[in-house]
Amino acid sequence: MEEFKIASFQKDHDRLQPGFYFSTLQRGVATFDLRFKKPNAGDFLAQAALHSIEHMLATALRAGACGAHILYFGPMGCRTGFYLLTEGMTCRAALSAAKDAIRAALGMERVPGAEKRECGNYLEHDLAGAKAELAAYLALLHALPEEAVTHEEMRLSAEVNR
Ligand SMILES: [Zn+2]
Repeated sequence: MEEFKIASFQKDHDRLQPGFYFSTLQRGVATFDLRFKKPNAGDFLAQAALHSIEHMLATALRAGACGAHILYFGPMGCRTGFYLLTEGMTCRAALSAAKDAIRAALGMERVPGAEKRECGNYLEHDLAGAKAELAAYLALLHALPEEAVTHEEMRLSAEVNR
């Protein structure tokens, strides 16, 4: 019990850093936190970039090789990152899909679905700002320590096998 508390504290501490985290598994649906910004540190995603990233990654994730396993992608209201909901994917596979989608998004010449008839706030987009944030986050994902990914994978596996 004592050990569990320590592990849980450690987890919460890690989660204050930008990264890629397994959050929950509910009814077979895994939620991942794509944390772009350190919480409560004064640096948040700008609203227009956040909105554009939502359009770009939602499109690229669904168009990707694992598109059938992607259930939802959307922004955190606190503007520090995004939620990715998947079905039947390992943590490593979800991370890989996210990296592929970011690479695809970096190649986009326009924000998908940003016409007036397609979007609830079509003037509030920032393709260049979105790409700058995506490039920084991709670099962060490439630099993620292997043990951090393994740690998240084990946490997801523990939930799957519970
Ligand atoms: Zn929109």
